Amino acid sequence: MEPEKTVTKMAIRASYEAICEIVGENARGMIFRNAGLARTLESPPDYTWDKEATVEEQAKLYTETINLVGAVGAQGILRLIGYRNTETPVVKFGALDHIKDLPQGERLAKAFELFQAATGKGRVVAGSNGFPAFDVFNCLLCVGVTSKKPYCSHYAGSLQFITDWVYGKGAYLVRETKCMAMGDDTCLFEIEERG
Ligand SMILES: [Zn+2]
Repeated sequence: MEPEKTVTKMAIRASYEAICEIVGENARGMIFRNAGLARTLESPPDYTWDKEATVEEQAKLYTETINLVGAVGAQGILRLIGYRNTETPVVKFGALDHIKDLPQGERLAKAFELFQAATGKGRVVAGSNGFPAFDVFNCLLCVGVTSKKPYCSHYAGSLQFITDWVYGKGAYLVRETKCMAMGDDTCLFEIEERG
């Protein structure tokens, strides 16, 4: 049976744009072809909620970016891809407009829950500092990977955008404080004061 396509055209298009923004068109071509997404290069999907790719294909975009750039260098790119993947639907298409008037704390928790629903990954948990944290116990990116540094930066980027959207850019930092690639029991993302 074919795996189900659950990733939206919008998410793939945002990755398509963000990857080019950082590594250029040629490297983007390599990444998408190696990820089995040559069809995206032929006709880049529109910014719609229609389904375009499987979760496995989307994860391959990240691992192919890492293969091309190296794990350390790729983390900044993955963070930006995650940021853009969330910024685009919110800013361009008003995906969170229905909660924009909630008080900040409530708005943040609700936005994290919607991110969970949209990605089918992770769960919202209570953080140690009163903020919600995001626990990606079912992370696909770092399966079988060993790393000295946090590895799953696209989640950090997405959650950073949400936090910026609620509190203003630069107010807080979203950091991956646990990562299975580092031997932790989960991949955990927490909101911190900027030091
Ligand atoms: Zn991970």
